[in-house]
Amino acid sequence: DSKSRVTIVGSGSWGSVAAKLVASNALKLPSFHDEVRMWVFEEVLPNGEKLTDAINKTNENANYLPGIKLGRNVVADPDLENAVKEANMLVFVTPHQFMDGICKKLKGKIKGEVEAISLVKGMEVKKEGPCMISSLITKELGINCCVLMGANIANEIAVEKFSEATVGYRESREIADTWVQLFSTPYFMVTPVHDVEGVELCGTLKNVVAIAAGFVDGLEMGNNTKVSAAIMRIGLREMKALSKLMFPSVKDSTFFESCGVADVITTCFGGRNRRVAEAFAQSGGKRSFDELEAEMLEGQKLQGVSTAREVYETLNHCAMTKRAAEEAPPSTDSSTTGPNFLGCYRDQVAELLS
Ligand code: NAD
Ligand code: 13P
Repeated sequence: DSKSRVTIVGSGSWGSVAAKLVASNALKLPSFHDEVRMWVFEEVLPNGEKLTDAINKTNENANYLPGIKLGRNVVADPDLENAVKEANMLVFVTPHQFMDGICKKLKGKIKGEVEAISLVKGMEVKKEGPCMISSLITKELGINCCVLMGANIANEIAVEKFSEATVGYRESREIADTWVQLFSTPYFMVTPVHDVEGVELCGTLKNVVAIAAGFVDGLEMGNNTKVSAAIMRIGLREMKALSKLMFPSVKDSTFFESCGVADVITTCFGGRNRRVAEAFAQSGGKRSFDELEAEMLEGQKLQGVSTAREVYETLNHCAMTKRAAEEAPPSTDSSTTGPNFLGCYRDQVAELLS
């Protein structure tokens, strides 16, 4: 069978929009099977019906993208193994905290020749150090993985308002072009960039900047702090510094793509991370992020709070690795421990920021 089969792993708000984009193209492109499978983390709707049954009956995801037809060729499947077993193209789009478990479940369960793309904004920090989600997929499943990131508020793309996105790829431009073809529509313009780490780090780190934008909004610090300069400008600069610290190959130009500056702007104005962080600040920190997330997002998930923790762990890990490499006795200097975790990297960071 020379035609490719696509499965979407995830069915939140962005997962459902990804299914809609891919499904419309699978019908048009002769090299793809019409059917697009979507793995759905099963839930029960208030009327007692299973979410997957409801999606297959109404062609809408009532919990995460109500009112939007996904395309008749989208088939919801609650069984992860069954959903991926025929696929040769896998689109991963779940909140990042679930990806480790999903990869473990999929180990040995996918076909031989499979290509993947990750729309997941986030990273994992393991004992050995930080691991981007695309690398986790490659390591656990032994498959190549591109990424797609960008200024992409799901609800807006769902109603076909114009936006752009960036596909990051590691080696094969041909594979990147296939993904571009599979996602592009007149209202969704996708550009390939040969910098998988840079694109993925942009998508991941901007969620931390969005939390900061929410804080300054909640504290009513005004337009100069958020809009004209401080949070977005310094945030983007710090995203670049950290990305290059983690992967020196990351390109400056990536930060000018949709995945970079455009996503920082979109998320700092219209995103869920910003909105919940604003409420957190307005409560004077008395209400927890978990509580606010559950109350305000009805099942949707924040990525920025845990990413802030993961960035902190990454920096600690970098500092520890560097200390070990220097074979120096553990430092008692408070500038290299505690909150000043960037201490031992001060020179490199200063250089990168200059
Ligand atoms: P979401 O926040 O809308 O929904 C949460 C999803 O997690 C639901 O599908 C839910 O069923 C699922 N879930 C809950 N518990 C689970 C579990 N234990 N195991 C597996 N799945 C579970 O999801 P989303 O917005 O589609 O986010 C997916 C990724 O896409 C995130 O990394 C996000 O940053 C990124 N993203 C989102 C948007 C957006 O506007 N929503 C845009 C671009 C990128
Ligand atoms: P939030 O998760 O903050 O809504 O951001 C969505 C997004 O990634 C827009 O590009």
